Amino acid sequence: MSATINVEYMFGIVGIPVTEIAIAAQAVGIKYVGMRNEQAACYAASAVGYLTGRPGVCLVVSGPGFLHALGGMANATMNCWPLIVIGGSSDRNQETMGAFQEFPQVEAGRLYNKLSVRPSSLEVIPAIIEKAVRTSIYGRPGSCYIDIPGDFVNLQVNKRSVKYVECCLPPPISTAEHSAVSKAASIIAHSKQPLLIIGKGAAYSHAENNIRKLVDLCGLPFLPTPMAKGVVPDNHPNCVAAARSTALQHADVIILLGARLNWILHFGLPPRFRHDVKVIQIDICAEELGNNVRPAAILLGDISAVTKQLLEEFSKRPLKYPSNSEWWKRLRDKITYNEERSKGLALQKSLPMNYYTVFHHIRELIPKDCILVSEGANTMDIGRTMVPNYYPRQRLDAGTFGTMGVGLGFAIAAAMVAKDRTPEKRVICIEGDSAFGFSGMEVETICRYNLPILIIVVNNNGIYTGLDADSWKEVLKFGDPATCVPPVSLLPNSHYEKIMSAFGGKGYFVKTPEELQNALKASVADKQTPSLINVMIDPQSERKKQEFPWLTRSNL
Ligand code: ADP
Ligand code: MG
Repeated sequence: MSATINVEYMFGIVGIPVTEIAIAAQAVGIKYVGMRNEQAACYAASAVGYLTGRPGVCLVVSGPGFLHALGGMANATMNCWPLIVIGGSSDRNQETMGAFQEFPQVEAGRLYNKLSVRPSSLEVIPAIIEKAVRTSIYGRPGSCYIDIPGDFVNLQVNKRSVKYVECCLPPPISTAEHSAVSKAASIIAHSKQPLLIIGKGAAYSHAENNIRKLVDLCGLPFLPTPMAKGVVPDNHPNCVAAARSTALQHADVIILLGARLNWILHFGLPPRFRHDVKVIQIDICAEELGNNVRPAAILLGDISAVTKQLLEEFSKRPLKYPSNSEWWKRLRDKITYNEERSKGLALQKSLPMNYYTVFHHIRELIPKDCILVSEGANTMDIGRTMVPNYYPRQRLDAGTFGTMGVGLGFAIAAAMVAKDRTPEKRVICIEGDSAFGFSGMEVETICRYNLPILIIVVNNNGIYTGLDADSWKEVLKFGDPATCVPPVSLLPNSHYEKIMSAFGGKGYFVKTPEELQNALKASVADKQTPSLINVMIDPQSERKKQEFPWLTRSNL
C-alpha cells in the first residue's frame, strides 16, 4: 500500500497468526489500536466506517477470535455501515486435520458479510482488498470478511508477480428518475399533514446541508431516527421529536430519507401510522423500496443527491407549508405538553436521583458539540429524548440491531477519529451499568491510548431495574443467590469508577445532583484525562408512563 492509504484505522487483538499483519499495518501508517475483546474491536472498526465513510479494519486471530468478531460484523451489516474484517486462519495444509483454532471461517462469514472470501494466493491479495473495500462502501454499505491462512503470513512472494491494483474510486452518486422526483414533489405539495423522517442513511450520506435547505424552504416538520439526530439540529423549530407519536400517527405523507420501515419505525403500519399514509421512499438500496408498505413514490438514489433534486423541483414550483396550519398547531401543542412532563421529572429533588434529573444535569454541562455514544435500555431511551444533538454523525447507539455492548468500542473509534479530524470535540459515552459491563475492560484500552473519553455510568444496579442494598440483603436470605436473585439484578452500589482509576484515569462516585454537577464540571474541564462518573440512581427509576399500550419496547 502506498502513503495515500484510504484505510486509516485498524482495531484488533493480535496472536497467531496475525501479529505480523498488525506490525506491517503500522509500518505503512495505519493506526493500530489493540483492544481487549474482538467484539469491541469490531464495533470500533465499524463505527469508523460510519463516521468517515471509509471502512475501518478489524484484525482477529483464527477460530475463537474470528467468532468473537461476528457480533461486530452482524451489527455493521444491520446498520448498513462499511467494515473490513481480516481474520487469520489455520494453515492450508492442516485443513480438516483438526488444526489449531481451525474453523470454516469463510463459510461462517457469509451470513454476516456482503463478501466473505479467502485470496487464492498472495499475488491476488491487493485485488481482493480492493474488492472488499469497494464492496463495503458501494451500494448499501456493509461488512466484508477477508480470510488469511497462517501459512500466508510469512510466505515470500516475487514482487513482480503481485497484481497491484489502485484503490477504488469513491462510491458513484446516483440520482432518482425525474418522473419520480416530480411525482414526489406533487404528493408533498398536496399533503395536509406532511412529515419528513430522517434516518441514519442521511447522516451517512452527508445530506445535512440539502435536508436542512428542504426543511427550511418548504417548512416541513421533521423527525430524526435515533442516530439521525443532529442531521438537522434538534433545536431547529421544525423538529417534532418531542411529538413523535402524534407525528407518526397522523401524518398523511411521509418522506422517508434513509430510514428503513423496520421495528424502529413500527414497520410503517397501523396503529402507529395511518392506514392510508403515502410514503415517499428515498434509499440507495433498490431491494429496500417497498418493504412492508407500498410506496406512493420511489426515489432510488443517494440521499443528498435526491434531496437536491427535490430542492430543484421546489425552486420551480415553490412550496411553503404554512406554519399556522392545524397540523403544526397540533404538533406544537404536543411538544409543549411532553416537554413539561419531562421537566417536572427532571426537577424532582428526591434522592436517589431519577433518570430525568441525571440527564437534565448532563444536558446542562456537556459541550454542545460533543460526540455522544449511548447504550443501555432506559439510559439510551431517556437520554435520547433529554440530550439534544446539534451536529450530524455525532450520536452512536445500539442501532438497528439493538446491540448492547457497543458503547466503549464506539467511543474509542470516535475518539481516534476526533483526534485526527476534530480534536476540539470530546467524546462522551453514557452507559447503563449493564451495558457498560459488556466491554468494561476496554477502559484499559482508553487509558493506554490516552483517549480523553468521559464515560458516565447511569447505575440502577441492574438491567431495566435493580435492587437497593437493603432489598438485596433481604433477597439473599432466601438462599443460594442463583435461585433467588432476580435475573435483572446486578450487584448493588458497584464502584465502576474504580475500573477507571485502576488504569490512571479519574473516577467519580456520585449520589446527589451537586456531586454530579461537580464531577461533570471537573471532567469536562480536564481535556487530557479519561474519566468515569458512576451515577447512582433510584434502582426502580423508570421512564415516564407511555400513552399507548403498544409503546412498551425499548426503542419507543
Ligand atoms: P435508521 O436506523 O436511522 O432508521 P436505517 O439503518 O434503518 O436507518 O436505514 C438507513 C438506510 O439508508 C438504509 O436503507 C440504507 O440502504 C440507506 N442508505 C445508506 N447510505 C445511503 C446513501 N448514501 N443514500 C441513500 N440511502 C442510503
Ligand atoms: Mg441498569
